Amino acid sequence: MKQRCEKLIGVLAPLGVDGALITSKTNIRYFSGFTSDEAVLLINKDRRVLLTDFRYTIQAKEQSPDFEIIETSRAIATEEIAAVIREMGIRKCAFEDGYLTVRAFNSYKDLPVELVPHTTEIDRVRLVKSEYEIECLKKAQSIADAAFSELLTVIREGMTEKEVANELDHLLRKHGADENSFDTIVGSGPNGALCHATPGPRKLQKGDLVVIDFGCKHMGYCSDMTRTVAIGEPCDELKKIYGIVLEAQLAALDALKPNMSAKELDGVARGVISKAGFGECFGHSLGHGFGLDIHEAPYASTRSADTLLPGCTITVEPGIYVEGLGGVRIEDDCVLTEDGFINLAHTTKEMIVI
Ligand code: ZN
Ligand code: ZN
Repeated sequence: MKQRCEKLIGVLAPLGVDGALITSKTNIRYFSGFTSDEAVLLINKDRRVLLTDFRYTIQAKEQSPDFEIIETSRAIATEEIAAVIREMGIRKCAFEDGYLTVRAFNSYKDLPVELVPHTTEIDRVRLVKSEYEIECLKKAQSIADAAFSELLTVIREGMTEKEVANELDHLLRKHGADENSFDTIVGSGPNGALCHATPGPRKLQKGDLVVIDFGCKHMGYCSDMTRTVAIGEPCDELKKIYGIVLEAQLAALDALKPNMSAKELDGVARGVISKAGFGECFGHSLGHGFGLDIHEAPYASTRSADTLLPGCTITVEPGIYVEGLGGVRIEDDCVLTEDGFINLAHTTKEMIVI
């Protein structure tokens, strides 16, 4: 944690900033180890201070040994934060403008410091994962693979999307997940054309393709995988679409290498789908990083300026969505290494027909 804080200060110093006020749950956890957002971190080159109230002081002492713990009288204790800022001598302080509520921001306006918005720079300290983080990500995905493999023995025609999602969520917990990375997506038949379909009362029918996008957390670290399964033999058009998405996904994995541009990776999969005449039906980006947050840098899209550095994570998730017919998405979660990448997902991508 100490090294992570030093890295943060190293990133902020060239921006003329001599301290950081950290308030988001993800970054509080990343920089201090504390797993609640009922805290504020103040970090400069000399000190690391965690302010929290009576309910959390024991937890903070246990989880954040690299931090001085200061007990505040209540949750957002502006005067007490101000006193620590004065003591630490911070003059220009980075804060996470991407996460702070307007109410909290208004109360922080009185702090005796110039607050400078730097969410992007702060978040990007998390860009390159350590070995420990990669192990956590691997474990999260191995739980997801095991849960999905068991789901395949249960899922059948006549189950509702909601039942499938509930079953999968239960299996994730059974195999050791702490919680979901995000709400499980199950889109069957025409609902598969909704990229982020909310599981509903629709019953799985013969000939459906079912898009299942899900993930779970281990030690706070997220997995993210999508598989599209068939309930009985699908029609020729859906089979063709499945084949194109799989070809695009495999082409992108084939091209994936460390230090390449994320935009270029997006272009590989998009090229395959466009060439097949379905360019308009792939309206989202190819992938995103994942870690303590389910969506974090880098981003693989048509506009991305990111480079896929060794230690970065990236999902590869092309899709084709046709209104009224259905959709296909196939997603793996990968970690770049010095000389290639590790695909964390081990579930088959050949079309599974139930
Ligand atoms: Zn996903
Ligand atoms: Zn994803």
